Amino acid sequence: MRKCFVAGNWKMNGTIDESVALAKGVVAGLTGSEKADVAVCPPFLAIPAVRDVLAGTAVRLGAQDVFYEGNGAFTGEISTDMLRDAGVSFALVGHSERRHVIGETDAIVRRKLDALIAAGMDVILCVGEKIEEREAGKTEAVLDTQTRAGLTGLTREQLAKVTIAYEPVWAIGTGKVATTEQAQAAHKFIRDLVASMFDQAAADALRIQYGGSVKADNAAELMAQPDVDGALVGGAALKADSFLGIIAGAR
Ligand code: PEP
Repeated sequence: MRKCFVAGNWKMNGTIDESVALAKGVVAGLTGSEKADVAVCPPFLAIPAVRDVLAGTAVRLGAQDVFYEGNGAFTGEISTDMLRDAGVSFALVGHSERRHVIGETDAIVRRKLDALIAAGMDVILCVGEKIEEREAGKTEAVLDTQTRAGLTGLTREQLAKVTIAYEPVWAIGTGKVATTEQAQAAHKFIRDLVASMFDQAAADALRIQYGGSVKADNAAELMAQPDVDGALVGGAALKADSFLGIIAGAR
């Protein structure tokens, strides 16, 4: 599997028609010679329509979230069965907006990760520190807690279903991208932690994406860092051209 994975998180934006147009723009702009695996995470309601656009292409379809229980009396939630039925092969869990706007805890994030893996799906586990945590010198402690909460007790086979997205909360949607040194240091910290929890081979095989104000003009430098294996892109994924520019910059 190629190390570089660029996923576009469209967040809570757009009509179904706009999502279809965006997906068509991404598909039309790919040449087939990209050095990255590419995925998009549309809003739930647009997933079936976007699935039809992506059919027969190499672009993967992801969801922005999932619920941890199976089908049943959970009004308003979306199960892994529903996602799979709609053609989704992976989902984000623990995105900072879910953690810090909706209030999801590490325990909830872990239940979602477990549900996805049990359903045979892949997971992007998002971790990252808030600005006050960084300024208080707590970045590594936060990454340690969130990563351990997400991964402790997984088998190596289960870990292989997981991609980690390091997304410093202060960099998401703010235009304040982490420096290459900050990103590399955080990614190396996570990889070393995973090596200590599993083994070096498992840690080396783990894809760790950077997310936080990635744009076409900063993507190549970020993704050239030894421990940065791809990008999770929000704002810049809302225009096909800027998302394609990021993919083009993948190493
Ligand atoms: C995101 O939504 O995960 C994200 C990284 O957003 P942005 O690229 O806009 O900072």
